[in-house]
Amino acid sequence: MSLKLDGKKLSLKIEQRLNDYISINKKTAKRAPGLAVIRIGEDPASGVYVNNKEKACSRVGIKSFIFHLKDDAEQKEVEQLIKKLNFDKNIDGMLLQLPIPKKFDEQRLISYINPSKDVDGLNEINIGKLVKNESAMRSCTPAGIINLLRSHNITIEGKKIVVIGRSLLVGKPLSLMLLNLNGTVTMTHSKTLNLNKVCREADILIAAAGKPNLVDSSFVKEGAVIIDVGIHRLKSSDKNQTRLCGDVLLEEVISKVSAYTPVPGGVGPMTVTMLLVNTIFSWQKQFSLSSTLNDLLPKTPR
Ligand code: NAD
Repeated sequence: MSLKLDGKKLSLKIEQRLNDYISINKKTAKRAPGLAVIRIGEDPASGVYVNNKEKACSRVGIKSFIFHLKDDAEQKEVEQLIKKLNFDKNIDGMLLQLPIPKKFDEQRLISYINPSKDVDGLNEINIGKLVKNESAMRSCTPAGIINLLRSHNITIEGKKIVVIGRSLLVGKPLSLMLLNLNGTVTMTHSKTLNLNKVCREADILIAAAGKPNLVDSSFVKEGAVIIDVGIHRLKSSDKNQTRLCGDVLLEEVISKVSAYTPVPGGVGPMTVTMLLVNTIFSWQKQFSLSSTLNDLLPKTPR
């Protein structure tokens, strides 16, 4: 029988540790860790994500500061806000909730975030350090996936790993992190030829294409581990209902794989948890607090 890699369960376990860590160290720091979330416009999914982040912060004792700007805000106004938060002593982490309206220069905004507060790990300094395998803030979804694999004793070193997707948010940083952990990584994308054949080579297959049910059993080697990053809300046969699914046609591949992540309850909860971890690490550095959480970060072997 295949093993379910339960991200929900693991994230609750980690949250308990984070809660304890904050309780113990708050006296020394004289304040709770602080996370600023900048949201622009009315994208409904972003509203849900920001809400979830706010709730997760309050569960572990992080103070969240939500800045919700209107669609008609100016690029300069957002830049000013980021600069102000860079200097705010109560803020350890900051993120720009994506997507933002097209008129904004997203990369320019991200480049304004102080790298030591860039809890999404998307600033070019942090990406550059990832490429160089130096320690830095690591993006949350990839770091969460590595945590999930590690906590189930799934070895990365020496494994053939295929990542579907090359986005800056998931595919690229994830491939680099796995490479830094001595995996043999193939990064694939929408122009990859014979995708299912390439994927069939994988000991660990990670789907982050954003295409519902793309991965069927023709993509999967017997005994592989499969990680589903995709998350889609589809109309079910009863038109008034919706259901969530991932990039993987799980019912078709489940009998073939040795382990899999469910959607929902796999990668998603780990992403939010790593955001909390990154915020607490920034707080820890700021106040030279104990480093008892170090096992939660992707290590950087040489
Ligand atoms: P994206 O659209 O920025 O990138 C998708 C990548 O997949 C691209 O590199 C593209 O080349 C590749 N791709 C697209 N179609 C393909 C195909 N048919 N075959 C092979 N490659 C293909 O998306 P993203 O931001 O990387 O997110 C990917 C998915 O992961 C989305 O469903 C998103 O909602 C989800 N996501 C989930 C979490 C989470 O926490 N669970 C976090 C981030 C993203």
